[in-house]
Amino acid sequence: MLQQTQVVTVIGYFERFLAAFPTVADLAAADEQQVLRLWEGLGYYRRARQLHAAAKVLVAEHGGVFPRDIQQIRALPGIGRYTAGAIASIAWDAREPILEANTIRVFSRLLGFRGDPARKDGQRLLWDFSASVLPTKQSGLFNQALMELGSEICYPRDPLCDRCPVGSLCPTKQQGLQAVIPPKRKTAYEDRHEAAVIVRRGNCVVLRRCAPHERWAGLWDFPRFPVTARRGDPLPEQLKTAAAELTGLAIAPGRHLTTIKHGVTRFRITLDCYEAKYTGGRLQRGGDVRWVEIDELESYPLSVTGRKLSRLLP
Ligand code: SF4
Repeated sequence: MLQQTQVVTVIGYFERFLAAFPTVADLAAADEQQVLRLWEGLGYYRRARQLHAAAKVLVAEHGGVFPRDIQQIRALPGIGRYTAGAIASIAWDAREPILEANTIRVFSRLLGFRGDPARKDGQRLLWDFSASVLPTKQSGLFNQALMELGSEICYPRDPLCDRCPVGSLCPTKQQGLQAVIPPKRKTAYEDRHEAAVIVRRGNCVVLRRCAPHERWAGLWDFPRFPVTARRGDPLPEQLKTAAAELTGLAIAPGRHLTTIKHGVTRFRITLDCYEAKYTGGRLQRGGDVRWVEIDELESYPLSVTGRKLSRLLP
């Protein structure tokens, strides 16, 4: 949960998650929809699916007991070298290194490394350094201290070098290169225009489960698609075509409900949301597109914009 997410955001989710799944066996036996519902709003849903998958492997292959062998830990779904090192060192003081955003910055500066830490040679250098500085005892404490040093002192901008406990060892401080080590990576943002349609029939609306290759895979959403000038059709026509393609239903587009602006990874999305009436046709894609009573929407794991739209429904 804490990958890419702040502690203060995670606490409530963590408590609800553990209340629902107090043991790894409970999580392994859970329905994916319940897991995703409890994760809803936390983002990066791949983490939830992989945690669920890891719980199943732990029960099936390890008798429900977390392995101590680092290779077995790394073989679990969703666990890479950093997470394995963090678990093994923090949980039982194994002498395993870590490398994540904070330690990448601290190590790059302590080494005066001006290359790109994301490249293969940079990664090798920093992992080797991380392993070489590990003490023989209390590696977990040491690793946590390094991450704290990165998050509390060695800030990306304007690090507090005067308060740094390793300042006397730091060539970056001595040469005044804090602004260029590590080099800044520019995110190339892309604007997207999308539309969502709430297809209604009486007290029911159409929901569609996002496919495994799609954003929000496994979660449910109102039928949604990219609006493109290339199609050449006015938006109501695009709504009809997309609804037919995504659901198999014929619709009559209605009023514009709202516009939601939101970001997902590097995409800055403007989402125009419309009401529509069902006029004919039958649902396709087996159970992945369905009519859902408005009162039942609370029990479905929805995309973040899907949840916002569901709250607009009378
Ligand atoms: S001296 Fe400054 S740049 Fe060097 S590790 Fe400490 S806080 Fe970071």
